[in-house]
Amino acid sequence: MMSTLLVFTDLDGTLLDHFTYDYAPAEGALNDLKTLGIPCILNTSKTYAELLELRQALGNHDPFIVENGAAVYIPKHSSLGNACSLPCQGDFYIKSFGPHREELIQLISDFKQRYDFTCYSDLSAAQLAQFTGLEIATAELSLQRSFTEPLIWNDSNQALHQLRDELEQYGVKAQKGGRFVHLMGQHCDKAVAMAWLAEQYELSIGGAVTCIALGDGENDVSMIGSANIPVVVRSPTHVPPEIPGRTDVWITDSYGPKGWNEAITKALVNHGYV
Ligand SMILES: [Mg+2]
Repeated sequence: MMSTLLVFTDLDGTLLDHFTYDYAPAEGALNDLKTLGIPCILNTSKTYAELLELRQALGNHDPFIVENGAAVYIPKHSSLGNACSLPCQGDFYIKSFGPHREELIQLISDFKQRYDFTCYSDLSAAQLAQFTGLEIATAELSLQRSFTEPLIWNDSNQALHQLRDELEQYGVKAQKGGRFVHLMGQHCDKAVAMAWLAEQYELSIGGAVTCIALGDGENDVSMIGSANIPVVVRSPTHVPPEIPGRTDVWITDSYGPKGWNEAITKALVNHGYV
């Protein structure tokens, strides 16, 4: 018998359309996963507050990973019994991989004199909405972070390199994203969180799992590269990222959620599920 399948997926530009955030084209495959009892684990830069809403819309009850791999949330009702010794928040156990946001804010405040940047924590929802084009209600949810602190970087690239070097001794990294520089624990990474959660499943079921990982961006490369089935979902805005060391990457024909649907359907067929 083939091993249990686990799906790990990025959201923006992958399961959600890059422009409209629509996931309707993926609904067929999402329903297949539900019917087959295959976990669909959202692995995203989004926050806990943002994911609570989205999971509800998707009817998703599986564990999820927030803030670029900074923490894994496991529903208390889940079969992953090992989680019991973890701290909880609401209906979830939490496994975190880096310092809390308050510590990051404290640390970075010492650098404000020497570098030119604005902290997320200094922005109001209205200011963030204006900067990102998000709706104010969405900006509100995005401000509720637990393990990462984004910066609006107004200084040079050289200054960013210098700050990076300085932060290293504190076990903190500054990762450049689309709009922000994200401060987070050195070991926070989508791939690390995926590997930890996959291991919890293996311990729980007493057997191997097969991970399929889907993403469209640079911050998905490590996750895709360490999955058993690596999938790059094609983006309408950029060329597919290279996945170093892998010659077996599936690159979808279609963009975003339509490509997602295509890849999951192919994986289910290959695995003998449908
Ligand atoms: Mg993405």
